[in-house]
Amino acid sequence: MEDKQKLLDEIKEEILNDNLPLKETATNLVFGKGNPNAEILFVGEAAGRNEDLQGLPFVGAAGKNLDKLLNEVGLSLNNVYIANILKYRPPENRAPLPEEIKKHTPYLIKQIKIIEPKIICSLGNYATKFFLANGEADKMDEHPGITQVHGKVRIMDFQGLKVKLIPLFHPAAIIYNRALISEWEKDMEIVKKEIAQKTLL
Ligand code: URA
Repeated sequence: MEDKQKLLDEIKEEILNDNLPLKETATNLVFGKGNPNAEILFVGEAAGRNEDLQGLPFVGAAGKNLDKLLNEVGLSLNNVYIANILKYRPPENRAPLPEEIKKHTPYLIKQIKIIEPKIICSLGNYATKFFLANGEADKMDEHPGITQVHGKVRIMDFQGLKVKLIPLFHPAAIIYNRALISEWEKDMEIVKKEIAQKTLL
């Protein structure tokens, strides 16, 4: 079997050598974490302050909620991989700009093609719209947001790779909007059911 970690390391090197937008203001590249051989991939939006400082995704407050989510459904970093739409932190955690998404996501697509996950859990609006648009940053606006599609599982062809997409609220949204907790818990049951299947796809 090819060494997926080695292939991911090559992509990481490629990013470091690229002059991506946000590179100048960021402290570190936030590439990804977890098991490169995982069948389940989680994709968030962009690094916050802690992620930028540590160079790892989801290590701050939103990360605590994501850890809880993983724990609730019996997953850990041993059997998932976690990455973001943007590879560098936007200043003051502002929302990603279309141009940034366009320049950063070809690397996410390369990561996905190496990992070849069977299930992708998109966290929040940006990641969800990105997958619904089949990775075409320009078409993200044409797709419904997370409020309409959360918990709705769909099998799709993502850039030639058959995957099961499970859109979920962003773990940070739960911190700011307590009303989402019951929805979030219902979605967790759906994730649990999907990952309990013998064949994930
Ligand atoms: N929020 C995200 O979307 N990604 C992170 O890595 C941290 C917070």
